[in-house]
Amino acid sequence: MDTDSYLLEVREVVAETADASSIVFEVPADAAEAFTYRPGQFLTVGVPSDQTGLAARCYSICTPPGEPLTVTVKRTVEGYASNWLNDNLKPGDTVRVLPPSGIFSPKDWTADLLLFAGGSGVTPIMSIVRTALAEHSNRVVLFYANRDEGSVIFAAALRELAAAHPDRLQVVHWLESVQGLPSEDQLREFASAYTSWTSFCCGPAPFMKAVSNSLRALDFPRDRRHQEKFVSLGGNPFGDVEEVLAARASVEAADDADESDEAVPAGPSGPVKVEVELDGEEHVFDDWQPGEKLLDFLESKGVKAPYSCREGECSACAIRLVSGEVRMLHNDVLEQEDLDEGIRLGCQSVPATAETVKVSYS
Ligand SMILES: Cc1cc2nc3c(=O)[nH]c(=O)nc-3n(C[C@H](O)[C@H](O)[C@H](O)COP(=O)(O)OP(=O)(O)OC[C@H]3O[C@@H](n4cnc5c(N)ncnc54)[C@H](O)[C@@H]3O)c2cc1C
Repeated sequence: MDTDSYLLEVREVVAETADASSIVFEVPADAAEAFTYRPGQFLTVGVPSDQTGLAARCYSICTPPGEPLTVTVKRTVEGYASNWLNDNLKPGDTVRVLPPSGIFSPKDWTADLLLFAGGSGVTPIMSIVRTALAEHSNRVVLFYANRDEGSVIFAAALRELAAAHPDRLQVVHWLESVQGLPSEDQLREFASAYTSWTSFCCGPAPFMKAVSNSLRALDFPRDRRHQEKFVSLGGNPFGDVEEVLAARASVEAADDADESDEAVPAGPSGPVKVEVELDGEEHVFDDWQPGEKLLDFLESKGVKAPYSCREGECSACAIRLVSGEVRMLHNDVLEQEDLDEGIRLGCQSVPATAETVKVSYS
């Protein structure tokens, strides 16, 4: 089992609505540093499975830093992990968890925040709202869409926050049962008063698409639009570090043998220099091998780069390409606009040319 994962004890399970529960974890003192997080980040939880041993799923943290680490899980119809967690977890149980990850987090807390949440997409948004109100002085507007009144997660908490901060927080509830699905025109009209703010959106895919189209129509700049996609991980990020090292050794062996390019995808013919900025430190290496994924390479060098799914399905490992070229072997999450901005996935990026690659995790 990966040394980066932790067994956390469940302190409490709180029923939020008929189909969603919050799981409060106990974080032991020796894991406290690993579990520091930014509002909007998520945990990767290992759900026991008789089929696969462990099914990995991401769940966003709903609490602000400093409060008990909590995620909120909404049942997905016929979903495996979300129903298992809602049906089985009780205080005292232990769950295998990967430390917080993700880039769905405000960098500039002086900016006013225009937030959009649909259903369980409110979870990371809630951590952002609570942090903004408790720690900062910016204004927050939340457009919160739900199927019906009974499915509004955190309804009471949001009411209390809005009452306590009437000048800073405005919550606009949108109920499909009453108003139908919000249209692009309606969302655009709503957002038009806030085009100088910074937006964060999380919810079902059609909702996110409608929000993103409406913001685009308002010429809302891309660098002030953020979104988080809720997808299920296909692979198992709880794998062995040894597996990563073995994968690297096999890439190097293929390179040493200098045989055909069978095992190595197209790209440079030899090792490439890479400069990586991570957590304020610069790491420079000159032996990044063709076909080797950046995350695997950095781990083999002892650099703790962020990741979750390792399969190009989430964006926990997102990097910004400063110079040089990389090629992604797989990408299920970044959109053309992200690529145009130089965003790439560290877990899927391999060198594309012999030119030095410079990337930043900030
Ligand atoms: C960054 C991020 C943050 C997220 N945050 C949240 C959040 O805060 N709250 C929230 O509710 N959701 C969140 N999600 C979504 C969440 O990760 C899951 O996608 C969601 O809960 C649905 O998972 P599920 O297993 O119930 O459903 P599905 O993924 O639809 O489950 C069905 C799948 O499980 C497989 N399966 C069936 N039986 C088994 C078995 N016995 N063993 C193994 N596999 C089996 C099936 O083959 C099928 O593929 C987030 C996702 C991401 C990427």
